[in-house]
Amino acid sequence: MRLIPARAGIAAGLMLAAVAAGHAQGGRCHGGASFEQWLDAFKREALAQGIGRATLEHALADATFDQSIVNKDRGQKVFQQGFLQFAGRMADGHRLQAGASRIKSNAALFARIEQQFGVPAPVIVAFWGLETDFGANNGDLPVLRSLVTLAYDCRRPQMFREELLNALRVIERGDLAPTEMVGAWAGEVGQAQFSPTAYLKYAVDFDGDGRRDLIHSVSDVLASSANLLAQNGWRRGEPWLQEVRVPSSLAWEQADLAVKHPRSQWAQWGVTLADGRTLAADDLQASLLLPMGRLGPAFLAYQNFHAFLEWNQSLVYATTAAYLATRIAGAPRVSPGNGKPSTLTAGQIAELQRQLLRQGHDVGKVDGKLGLATRAGVKQAQLKLGLPADSYPTPELLSRLGSGVAAATPRAERAGGAPSQPRTPAPRNSTRPSAAPPQSLQRP
Ligand code: CA
Repeated sequence: MRLIPARAGIAAGLMLAAVAAGHAQGGRCHGGASFEQWLDAFKREALAQGIGRATLEHALADATFDQSIVNKDRGQKVFQQGFLQFAGRMADGHRLQAGASRIKSNAALFARIEQQFGVPAPVIVAFWGLETDFGANNGDLPVLRSLVTLAYDCRRPQMFREELLNALRVIERGDLAPTEMVGAWAGEVGQAQFSPTAYLKYAVDFDGDGRRDLIHSVSDVLASSANLLAQNGWRRGEPWLQEVRVPSSLAWEQADLAVKHPRSQWAQWGVTLADGRTLAADDLQASLLLPMGRLGPAFLAYQNFHAFLEWNQSLVYATTAAYLATRIAGAPRVSPGNGKPSTLTAGQIAELQRQLLRQGHDVGKVDGKLGLATRAGVKQAQLKLGLPADSYPTPELLSRLGSGVAAATPRAERAGGAPSQPRTPAPRNSTRPSAAPPQSLQRP
């Protein structure tokens, strides 16, 4: 799960924001108070917000600041992985077999869950597998210690203060004991890695023992995951993602999650099923999703795909989860596409973001991650430059943007014979993914 400021309050899904590169570091967010002073003030606020004194004293009795958690937060590197690379690692092999076997061994449970929430087993199992390998890797750090540390730290104090308050509420309502709250370094807990905020909002007691236990109860874990998706717009009985084949020439600017057309329209434009058969010519709305641009894999993303983005707003993660769910449901391995789409490194993405910002395109912040906002900026630039507007950045685009800036640079800056080269020479063939593996495989 996640604790994403962009959807503050939600925080279901992987903690993608933790990977953010910008280290806004004020240092004065708590007015110079020591950790102990800050904690006293926090407890007073928590009391005022209705959390019981006994809960507070019990849960925060041993609260300490843990510099290693801050170091993890600061040390997160951005590894830019393309969909094929990430999915190849995360959505293949054992997760397929294990996912299918989990569905089989919990068939009655999944049937009850689908009946109540409308979400089919392969979708739930895909998240379960991606988040913790079906409960095998839930994390081993004390959640409360992480949260007090990150709430005291000055990088994202408000968000983690809220998470801390919600963790205390989860304890107070009897779901988990403080010592049971062990999880990932940013406070995600349980087999689906819910943030405390997501826990509070979406966890359900599905085995009927009176508490929502997302650590030990598989029933609670799976039903809560379904509940999260249902509450974020899941539509019963509708598909979520479907691999397709696209013609070599298409109005590429139509390939955009923000653009929806009936399936019949896509069929008319020459989009077919992956095996070449015709698409159902009905009016079910779908977007054409090209996670790696027009040369890479192609999918129709249906309304339900947006529930995957609610779980985690990273497009690569969401696409991988949705794709894994289709594979568990029986779809064949995705075709890599028509060509060899390149993957820019995090450094190149950051440079691209700077160039786009300089030219007036809104890309959010410069963080080296190819998110939806950056892709939207890429599309604008592609349209302006007359390139195929598939929202996917290439070395060529980076080079063209760099050239554009150089050409517009005042003469004085170019004095001394500096050629008007792109600021960052773009490698011609950077299909190579970033060298090091990610610190967390779940964070593309
Ligand atoms: Ca329960």
